[in-house]
Amino acid sequence: MRLLESDSLVLHSFDYRETSRIVRIATRDAGVLSVIARGARRPKSPFGSAIDLFTSGVAHVRVHPSGDLHSLTGFDATRTRSELAGSLARFTAASAISELCLRFAREDDSGRVHDAATAVLDSIGTATPGAVPAIALAGAWRVVAELGFAPSLDQCASCHADLAPNDAVTFDHRAGGALCARCARLGKRGRQLPAEARETLRAWLAGEESMLADPAARRAHQRLLREFLEEHLGDGRPLRAFVTWEAQASAPRLAADHA
Ligand SMILES: [Zn+2]
Repeated sequence: MRLLESDSLVLHSFDYRETSRIVRIATRDAGVLSVIARGARRPKSPFGSAIDLFTSGVAHVRVHPSGDLHSLTGFDATRTRSELAGSLARFTAASAISELCLRFAREDDSGRVHDAATAVLDSIGTATPGAVPAIALAGAWRVVAELGFAPSLDQCASCHADLAPNDAVTFDHRAGGALCARCARLGKRGRQLPAEARETLRAWLAGEESMLADPAARRAHQRLLREFLEEHLGDGRPLRAFVTWEAQASAPRLAADHA
């Protein structure tokens, strides 16, 4: 049994039995872990509110060499991110980022998911509600790039031929990105990616910001991302938080969200 002390981010948490909670955390030193916080539901819990969703801090974990549930012995919160709960736009976007990390991340990812997710949540927390979707889309693609499966945009994902940089292309989720005209004809799959959308995607993958003024473009980008992720997961399980996020972003704004 090994003791781990690592900068961590709470991605998900749920009640377990009478007094405990199971928490999934992205750690800097051991990737994404499931840990049990014994006694977390007792009135005088040693954890207090430290293991609330999206909180950052130093996790103290007893790592069990066999099995995939470890023990959380302490969590020193350094940042609670309560601002994410203050608006539906922020909360649903942050939940989608969290789902992305949980569904794709593994143990021992060299801390890349922790660092990328933390940066994205901080950007979402300070964005105005109207800017949240573009900020979260950019962040999600950055996490995808960190996980090592960024789509190919400048070479054909099938035959690797160079593609003209400013053209519209066919985007094929299964092939893993843009296709040249010949492969698109042969494959008879994929959707059109307009030149502007391709440029935006390229900027996001490079870690740059690119805002989306047009709601239709935003919806198209959200759908493209979700379909790309679902194709890569390949397990048929829907990305529930992404579906909720898309529905929220398309709903009429609540008065409180104009703030
Ligand atoms: Zn090709």
